[in-house]
Amino acid sequence: MKVNVSSILCSDGLSQNITEILDISADDFDNKDIVDNEPVKLDGVITNMGDYLLLSGEIDTSLKLVCSRCLEYFDFQLKTKIEEKFSNRTDINQDDFYFFEGDIIDFKEMVIQDILLSLPMKLICKEDCAGICPQCGKNKNLYNCNCSGENLDPRLSVLNELLKKG
Ligand SMILES: [Zn+2]
Ligand SMILES: [Zn+2]
Repeated sequence: MKVNVSSILCSDGLSQNITEILDISADDFDNKDIVDNEPVKLDGVITNMGDYLLLSGEIDTSLKLVCSRCLEYFDFQLKTKIEEKFSNRTDINQDDFYFFEGDIIDFKEMVIQDILLSLPMKLICKEDCAGICPQCGKNKNLYNCNCSGENLDPRLSVLNELLKKG
């Protein structure tokens, strides 16, 4: 995953194809919702823009995530376009660039950050995931339980009312 870019550093406009399979494991994400992942593929072109190198490409992988509603694992296909700038100069604002030393770029940290940023806000196994019953703890996608309000035994609901008032 370390790429030598010496061949494009000498002159503006030169570019180099990037096709990498990155050795990233679930632990590298430092995110408890990611429990496993397929190898991460990075495909793109890196171009010498004069002051910096511009990587334009795509990240492709599959993650095993934890559904925030039902807590089951689910597979999430992740394919995201990226555009990132790299510089090996120490005299410029580092915030705008990923820094690399000499002529070797390690894409790992950038790819991890881009994957984390491209995750949806809500991690759910499916749009209509029914989640877990707060009363009996069963996964409502798999089981029908009789805990929901409308299925309550009417005698019990009277009792519940009494208990609430008490
Ligand atoms: Zn779910
Ligand atoms: Zn229930």
